[in-house]
Amino acid sequence: QLSDKLEGVFSGLRQRGVLTEPMIREGLREIRRVLLEADVNFQVTRDFMKRVEEKALGERVLKAVSPGQQLVKIVHEELTSMLGERRSPLALAPIPPTVIMMVGLQGSGKTTTAGKIARKMKREMRQTRMVACDVYRPAAVEQLQTLGEQVGVPVYAEPGSQDVVGIARRALELAQSERDRVVIFDTAGRLQIDEQLMDELKRLKEVLKPAEILFVADGMIGQESVNVAKGFDDALDITGVVLTKMDGDARGGAALSIYGVTGKPIKFLGVGEKLDGLEEFHPERMAGRILQQGDVLSLVEKAQRSFDQEEAAKLERKVMGAGRFDLDDFLMALRQFQNLGPLENLLKMLPGVNSKMLKNVKVDPQRMKHIEAIITSMTKQERKRPEMLTGSRRVRISRGCGRPVSEINRLLEQFKEMQKFMKQMKGLQGMMPRGGGMP
Ligand code: GDP
Ligand code: MG
Repeated sequence: QLSDKLEGVFSGLRQRGVLTEPMIREGLREIRRVLLEADVNFQVTRDFMKRVEEKALGERVLKAVSPGQQLVKIVHEELTSMLGERRSPLALAPIPPTVIMMVGLQGSGKTTTAGKIARKMKREMRQTRMVACDVYRPAAVEQLQTLGEQVGVPVYAEPGSQDVVGIARRALELAQSERDRVVIFDTAGRLQIDEQLMDELKRLKEVLKPAEILFVADGMIGQESVNVAKGFDDALDITGVVLTKMDGDARGGAALSIYGVTGKPIKFLGVGEKLDGLEEFHPERMAGRILQQGDVLSLVEKAQRSFDQEEAAKLERKVMGAGRFDLDDFLMALRQFQNLGPLENLLKMLPGVNSKMLKNVKVDPQRMKHIEAIITSMTKQERKRPEMLTGSRRVRISRGCGRPVSEINRLLEQFKEMQKFMKQMKGLQGMMPRGGGMP
């Protein structure tokens, strides 16, 4: 989850009293990685990073009383503006009826969303009608009719007819004579964008002069939905976006990219198959949600999944049992922690662990290779009994692995911290489920 990952980055930064430029840069690199991993569009990520960097490296942050907080604030602001700055409500036509056209690929959730919006309009006391313009599949008309019955909104359809533009024109006339306030047109989709579909939608647009052309996208398909949004926007000049299926494990990248790529705001999120599964989209709240406190349990579970069970069990025996925690164990632990992303993120979540003791345990993934080189340049004896690593032995190891002695010293510092940490973990034994591997 995007929010968990960003939270990890920030819990690290937030707690530091002083932020140096390298720390900020490191944090920003991490944010960039998290965004790209969440499938945020590359270009959008680059623009975002540029803006955050400019602000974050400004004097205001470096000299602020709590620079970590300041940085979080900047990222929150920029995320908000990346999501469209402020809430963009449904546009209502000055002279009714307000015409809303639902467009999008097949299966994206157009029909369902039409029903959800109809329900919302009706609850806001607006006389509403839906129109079935997805005429090629009889089931689509029936689906809309069923939804209409559920929300108590009439549905205009001409079963059997494939004259989409004629249907639209007649429906609009009816709506005008019946003094409807809102008319929602459900349209056909395709598996991909194709010319024929776009032509049909363009003709519909001409006849309907809609106040809103809502592009409906499946939030689960990430980056791809951004390209599709661009295609629909180029052809139809859409007025807004609805991201559906945000109740599932959508990675969030689509939400963060669509506004940046099309300049069109997200207006609603679909958060369920049922008719009440519609949320207004608030950029600021969404940004807040992304930055929110990560869920401790899910992090711990993630940790347990990533750890190699057997190795972890060995490590556990070491930690819990009589065995000493030596440099071999250290290397094994580091390798396992690598699977978790930054070690710090996880460890911070464990009660009883403070950030000071973690300072030296943190491992830069790029350094992993060096660490392996150093440890494998030691003799078996040395790895078992690190306290025998005198100055001259360290020099020898340094020659063996090609890393400076200072780095070896640093590694041994880290080892000591880890040793301490392992002792601490013993005390945490009780809180972990049995058989979960790592304590
Ligand atoms: P259309 O082809 O674009 O009209 O898509 P439909 O409205 O028929 O929806 C396709 C499928 O997605 C259906 O099974 C819907 O129940 C489901 N669906 C639509 N919106 C949501 C949503 O917000 N969350 C979830 N979980 N499912 C949705
Ligand atoms: Mg449909």
